[in-house]
Amino acid sequence: MSKSNLSLDMDDLLPGLIAFRRDLHAHPELAFEERRTSRLVADALREVGIEVHEGIAGTGVVGVLRAGMSQRIVGLRADMDALPILEQGERPYISRHAGVHHGCGHDGHTAMLLGAARYLARTRDFDGQVAFIFQPAEEGRGGAREMVKQGLFERFACESVFALHNWPDLPVGVAATRTGPMMAAADRFDIVVRGRGAHAAQPHQTPDAVLAAADLVTQLHTIVSRRVPPTQNAVLSVTRISGGQSHNVLPSAVELTGTVRTFDAAVQDTIEEAIRAVAAGVARGSGTRIDVEYVRYYPATVNTHAQAQLALEAARQAGLEAVTAPAPAFTSEDFAFMLQQRPGAYLWLGQGRKAGDVPLHHPSYDFNDDALAGGVRWLVAVARLALGRKSHAK
Ligand SMILES: [Zn+2]
Ligand SMILES: [Zn+2]
Repeated sequence: MSKSNLSLDMDDLLPGLIAFRRDLHAHPELAFEERRTSRLVADALREVGIEVHEGIAGTGVVGVLRAGMSQRIVGLRADMDALPILEQGERPYISRHAGVHHGCGHDGHTAMLLGAARYLARTRDFDGQVAFIFQPAEEGRGGAREMVKQGLFERFACESVFALHNWPDLPVGVAATRTGPMMAAADRFDIVVRGRGAHAAQPHQTPDAVLAAADLVTQLHTIVSRRVPPTQNAVLSVTRISGGQSHNVLPSAVELTGTVRTFDAAVQDTIEEAIRAVAAGVARGSGTRIDVEYVRYYPATVNTHAQAQLALEAARQAGLEAVTAPAPAFTSEDFAFMLQQRPGAYLWLGQGRKAGDVPLHHPSYDFNDDALAGGVRWLVAVARLALGRKSHAK
């Protein structure tokens, strides 16, 4: 690939892509409600002769582009949904949907994948098929899981899948990935501690749900330090505790919520079992009843070795500084569901302008358009490396 060739073509692609990205930013849509976004994507794919499949997991869209003779397929994925956040800031393309905001930069992901699709539709210089997967509902609702459930890989038999996330902790022009875990498994627990309730001046008449809940919070925080091997990583956070109305009433119930992040299924099992055991112990000691609901909503995002190496090579070919990420992140990502089905890799694309940039999910977060071209080039390079270049013998 001649880089200068690509950048010549990129130059006339970019202004339209930036306008497209900002239009998405101004019209953000929540999980499974990405109707306008997916219609714009489908139209823009059709316009350049890409075969379009709509309605996968509701608002999901897959575009298929063929070149050469090979039947091999590589999947490139972008997420399209925004967050339920009231956007703050001054930008001219600020969200026109109050309380909905592209605070995770998925507007940039959608624009970059569309850019790669339109670019490859022009060059058609790979041998096989590229499936451009535009998924709904990454933010907690598992749009990727839903697409897989609805037969994504039966309909489009991808050999491997790739995705990227804009990453404000890295400067623009840098891309990072690694073999193995990239993002954590995300679980949640909801716990209800029940006493009977009584007058606060007669505490002997009820098991004390407040005291038991306080004890439970303390006990839960011993799990990572005492039960998980020190060579492994995990996070357990209690994020909500509520119960009681008045200074003179012992409430009948107190509720706790929290999250667990892990990279290893055995550690995940250990923590879930320990939460149940600790809760049973506190219940026995306090005379309360404690119910634990434990939900594993996103698995760990784990890259396969060959595809992680391909992703790094693609970054170099895209003119990015390719870095092997030293450690995974504790945030999570539903691309994990696709990586459970197919080999693949997930890449962080540098977004940072300067130190002190706001993080993802901040009310004034905005995808940095300076990173668009590098992201498009990376996706293009991944398709070419995964499929090989079209042989000139026709
Ligand atoms: Zn997010
Ligand atoms: Zn995101």
